[in-house]
This record gives sequence, C-alpha cells and structure tokens, in this order.
Amino acid sequence: MHTLREILKKINIQDNVLFDEPMKNHTTFRIGGPADVFVTPSTVQSLKTLVSFCRNNGIPFFLLGQGANILVADEGIRGIVIDLSAFSRIMTADTKITAGAGAFVSRVSEAAITAGLTGLEFLYSMPGSVGGALYMNARCYGMEIAFVVESAAILDKNGNENIISLRKKDFSYKKSPFQKTGDIILSATFILKQGKKPEIREKMDEYRLDRERKGHFLFPCAGSVFKNNKKFGKTTGRIIDSLGLKGYCIGDARVSPEHGNIIVNQGNARALDVMHIIMFLEKKVKMELGLELEREIILVGAWNTELQKPEERYEQNS
Ligand SMILES: Cc1cc2nc3c(=O)[nH]c(=O)nc-3n(C[C@H](O)[C@H](O)[C@H](O)COP(=O)(O)OP(=O)(O)OC[C@H]3O[C@@H](n4cnc5c(N)ncnc54)[C@H](O)[C@@H]3O)c2cc1C
Repeated sequence: MHTLREILKKINIQDNVLFDEPMKNHTTFRIGGPADVFVTPSTVQSLKTLVSFCRNNGIPFFLLGQGANILVADEGIRGIVIDLSAFSRIMTADTKITAGAGAFVSRVSEAAITAGLTGLEFLYSMPGSVGGALYMNARCYGMEIAFVVESAAILDKNGNENIISLRKKDFSYKKSPFQKTGDIILSATFILKQGKKPEIREKMDEYRLDRERKGHFLFPCAGSVFKNNKKFGKTTGRIIDSLGLKGYCIGDARVSPEHGNIIVNQGNARALDVMHIIMFLEKKVKMELGLELEREIILVGAWNTELQKPEERYEQNS
C-alpha cells in the first residue's frame, strides 16, 4: 500500500485521490469494503497517465460508473478504482447528443427532451452512467442502448484516443464489444429523432412510475441479479417468485418482496449475505426446475474465487 501511495505521488496525479475509500459510498447497493486507492481523474490526459501507470506496473484497476450493477466484496478492492464521474459533459447538435462516460443516463434523457428529441426515454430513472450503460448494453421497455448509439470516443489498450462507430449488431443481450476489447469509454454519441415534448415526457414519467411501482427505489440494490433467458418461458423474477422465494433473507440482505430478481440491502447487509442469497437462489432454481440462472450482477474486488463463476474471474480491468 505504501509503495502504491509513493508511486502515485511520483507520477504527480493532480486529481482527487483517496486511500482506503469505502466502496459502499459509491455503489447503489451501499455495500462494499475499502478500495486501496480511489481516483477521480478530471481530464483525459490525467486518465491516460493513470491507466498507463497501472498497465506498466501491473496494478489492477477497476473503472467505476455509478456502481449500479456491481457487488463489491466486503474485503474491498485491491489496486485502483478509477471513478469516471468527472466526464459528465452533455452536448446536443441537431438530432445527436454526445454525453461523457460519467454522465448519469437520466440526465442525458433530460437533455434529449430539452432539445425535443425522442429515443432516450427508456433510460430515464434507470440508475447508471453512460459508460456503464454502454458497457452493459443497458436495456428496458423494449429498447437497448445499442439501438440509439452511433459512436463512442474511447481510450484503447495502447492508450490512444479514438472514435469508433458502433452498430446494433455489435451488441447482444447484456453484451457490448467493450467487454472484450477492454477499451475505456470516454463518451458516447446517440442518434435520436425529433419528437413532441409532451409525448416524450409522458413516456419518461410512465417508466419512472413503473420503476417506483416495482419498488426499485425503496431500498438500495443493484437492479436485476440474474439475466432473463427466453428459453425458460418466464422472466427470472417470475421463476423465483413461483418458488415462493420473494422475501427470503440472510442478515440484512433480502429478495425484494416486490420483485423476485432484485436483492435489496435493508440496512447493513454484507456482500457475503447477498452472495449467499445469490447462491441459494441458483441452487433452488436448479434443484426444483432444472434451470441454470446466469448472473447479471458483476462481482468486483477481493472475492473468494470459490464464490465466483469461472467467467467472473476475469471481470476486473487490468
Ligand atoms: C434500481 C435499479 C434498476 C435497474 N434497472 C435496470 C434496467 O432496467 N435495465 C438494465 O439494463 N440495467 C438496470 N440496472 C442496472 C444498472 O443500472 C445498469 O447496468 C447500468 O448501465 C450500470 O451503469 P453504471 O454506470 O452504474 O455501471 P457500473 O455498475 O459502475 O459498472 C458496470 C460495468 O461497466 C464498466 N464500466 C463503467 N464505466 C465504464 C467506462 N467508461 N468504460 C468502460 N467500462 C466501464 C465497469 O467497469 C463495470 O464492469 C438497474 C440498477 C438499479 C440499481
């Protein structure tokens, strides 16, 4: 730890640098132990310096959006968390909107309605940043981010800035090209259509109300824990509900009584409590129905590999 502190001083990062920063302050679950180092770069140059420093020194780093899709281990995160919240500029030009990776998607939806543009209503009131939403190909209400994104500005593995065109076919259910390339998303440009403001507002309000009705904002959570699978004939939420598991709890972690595919933190839930519920649900659904649930939530940090599925062991950026 001391060495990391000292080396960071040497590369003269001017940004906000925190040590042993509790990740529960940076996740929608309000769960997660300390990150060794937590940096919020304020310029692309500074981000570049930091990332190349990590890569050249074999220091693991994790890119943080709004922390709305992650479960951070109670033991925290070894290495550096790079918080992209400072890249939050939103610009409108004709029917296009370009938003920084750290901009909240709801704010981008608001910018769209202000410009009388339709196409981003579905993201309204969904927690998350532009970078996280693009990385996860966020989807809801029959729409996916892949349907409206035109291009992204990225920092590639060699530390070069590029603009890449993106097509719908580059994405699939909860998958984006970034999960393979390891490119860092700096901003994204969305191509939208002219619309009528009252109609756009009506849709935004409808989606927000729907989320409120489903209890999304009653307790801290990270949205759906598992992916849906069309072959199962029912949503994962309904499958879990059909086994009478809504409300099941371990410690302060609980399967939401409103939605079977959401686990909530009722106070001081530990990441391990959530993990034990996840594993219990996987086991029950497999035993009772023979179905294999696939995790959507991303495990980040110092997890015991026994608790992780093989594909999750490579999630962390490096
Ligand atoms: C109440 C609630 C409701 C939700 N509803 C939905 C829903 O309807 N549909 C849906 O799809 N999701 C939903 N989610 C999950 C979550 O909102 C989305 O997955 C969101 O896109 C995550 O964005 P984030 O900024 O929080 O990403 P984070 O959780 O911070 O990160 C997610 C992943 O993206 C990577 N990442 C983040 N920024 C960048 C970047 N700039 N460049 C490269 N990689 C990056 C991270 O390293 C990580 O691997 C919900 C979550 C909550 C809490």
